[in-house]
Amino acid sequence: MPELPEVEVVRRGLAEHVVGRTVSAVEVLHPRAVRRHLAGPVDVIGRLTGRTLTAARRRGKYLWLELGDPGDEPTDALLAHLGMSGQLLVSDPATPPQKHLRVLLSFADGGSQLRFVDQRTFGGMSVESLVSAGTGDATGQRGERSDRVPVPVAHIARDPMDPDFDAAAVVAALRRRDTELKRALLDQSLVSGIGNIYADEALWRAKLHGRRPTRTLTRKAGLAVLASATEVMAEALEQGGTSFDALYVNVNGNSGYFDRSLDAYGQADRPCRRCGTSIRRESFMNRSSYFCPRCQPPPR
Ligand SMILES: [Zn+2]
Repeated sequence: MPELPEVEVVRRGLAEHVVGRTVSAVEVLHPRAVRRHLAGPVDVIGRLTGRTLTAARRRGKYLWLELGDPGDEPTDALLAHLGMSGQLLVSDPATPPQKHLRVLLSFADGGSQLRFVDQRTFGGMSVESLVSAGTGDATGQRGERSDRVPVPVAHIARDPMDPDFDAAAVVAALRRRDTELKRALLDQSLVSGIGNIYADEALWRAKLHGRRPTRTLTRKAGLAVLASATEVMAEALEQGGTSFDALYVNVNGNSGYFDRSLDAYGQADRPCRRCGTSIRRESFMNRSSYFCPRCQPPPR
């Protein structure tokens, strides 16, 4: 599953390679890839053909391309759901179709194509109306800039990399919740884009245990864990996105993998880099949590 830095790498790739170009033809090679577009494949094709991709945007792990004419306020967008294994590739038209090619966009300039490749077909594409967001999420944050998002993204809170992210508002909302800290960090209506890996890394940096009740969290500790999450994601982004899934590749088909070693996630039984105590693994929502039992004492 791609994490926020990988999705941002893809967004930047799309901004560079496809924004400003006009779609001349669309082929849907597997109907499952457009199942979220309820009006069906013919409608997707009709709503994309002849349109110009005017901007590549992201909120949390959601990624979309605005449709319209340059200068016009966009009213709809092509939303890409990367799912577990979805990839957006910019390919030369002469490149043979990839084995799991699901959707193919060709452009009027005859140049590179945009190809949606997905081995497991959990991902897909849909054309969605844009709506004003900012009030639908749990924090009610409203930014300065245009905050129009596709309908399925309306309930998703801003992510820590968003220039309009309001950490103080998120901490206040978090302290009102009757839950555990890691669950709150993974709650996309509170703060988006933090997945299991970055939650564990942020908690390790802030020296907080994921099972800590949010009600007992100080404002300072809440701000510290959000700052840590921002920091660890910014570092990953600088290095081209972390990818811990061999299936994930960036927009040009190059693996975004980099060998930044993690401090907590996946480090069970290795010494904590801060204190030398063995990192511990515990099960968490059918997955795992990793923490240092000394730096991050579990709540009693
Ligand atoms: Zn430690």
